Amino acid sequence: MINEILDLALIESGKLSLSLEPISLAEVMHECQDMIEPQAKKRGISVAFPRFEISYFVKADRTRVKQVLINLLSNAIKYNKVGGTVVVDCIASDPGRIRICVEDTGEGLTPEKLTQLFQPFNRLGQEANFEEGTGIGLVVCKRLIEWMGGVIGVESTVGKGSVFWIEMNLTAAPEGAAHAADATAAAPAQVQADAQLRTLLYVEDNPANLMLVEDLIARRPDIRLLSARDGNRGIEIARASLPDVILMDINLPGISGIRALKILAEDPTTAHIPVVALSANAMPHDIEKGLEAGFFRYLTKPIKVHEFMDTLDVALDFAKMAAARAARKEQA
Ligand code: MN
Repeated sequence: MINEILDLALIESGKLSLSLEPISLAEVMHECQDMIEPQAKKRGISVAFPRFEISYFVKADRTRVKQVLINLLSNAIKYNKVGGTVVVDCIASDPGRIRICVEDTGEGLTPEKLTQLFQPFNRLGQEANFEEGTGIGLVVCKRLIEWMGGVIGVESTVGKGSVFWIEMNLTAAPEGAAHAADATAAAPAQVQADAQLRTLLYVEDNPANLMLVEDLIARRPDIRLLSARDGNRGIEIARASLPDVILMDINLPGISGIRALKILAEDPTTAHIPVVALSANAMPHDIEKGLEAGFFRYLTKPIKVHEFMDTLDVALDFAKMAAARAARKEQA
């Protein structure tokens, strides 16, 4: 608990540095299994780990990714029913992404508890009987995973149990002869956390557009980019990580960007987030329709760098003011 508070303080003050390198998931999972087994045995909980047919690598900080997994595993054991089970699963979901799920057979969480789960502890303090120790740990997990370019989320059914998951980008296995690789690639990237860090979620099915936006956002150390390849995944990530701003393509596989916007606007947890449309539909009536649907701004492709950056800043400012307003309302 103390360590977690220190971690959170480190993260919030911008003093945490992560060393990102390709990590073998099978290896990390094996280490976690060894660490968690005594705790599981003591509580009479059986834990099933996945067997890896393929060796998956994620770009992560080894210590920190283990910290997150141990935290999820430890909660799944601690808040399980007597004689319960924990099932760990790895699913290569989207191309290039992997999801690690930790499923328990505990009591499950009510929707109210779910919305508070990843909030910093000053807000959790309002919940009198929230199990001590879970909240702060999960806040740290969320920050760490997002720093490594991942997403954390949870699905829960009261009376049945919860599934906590993290999703990360897959990366190539390190070269057999690591020293032969060029120096910049071999050196672990140092990531400096920043107290002012903002989150942008980009929902886009076109990899070229995503790459361009990734490049643009790479120039902005104050913005962290999350992405989703379709509307439903976008909604899922928006609910899980509550980004400051969402950038939404209109023509998406499955539901359209307009439909996704409506779902986000109807959900009280995401309704406050400004959603900027970014679409190839550039006719005046397309733009009008988009703004009518409730988009914060409507940008057209091809992306114009200045317009894009300016709009992003306006949306981020708007988000900051909305957050300040909400905080004042909460105080009153
Ligand atoms: Mn599209």
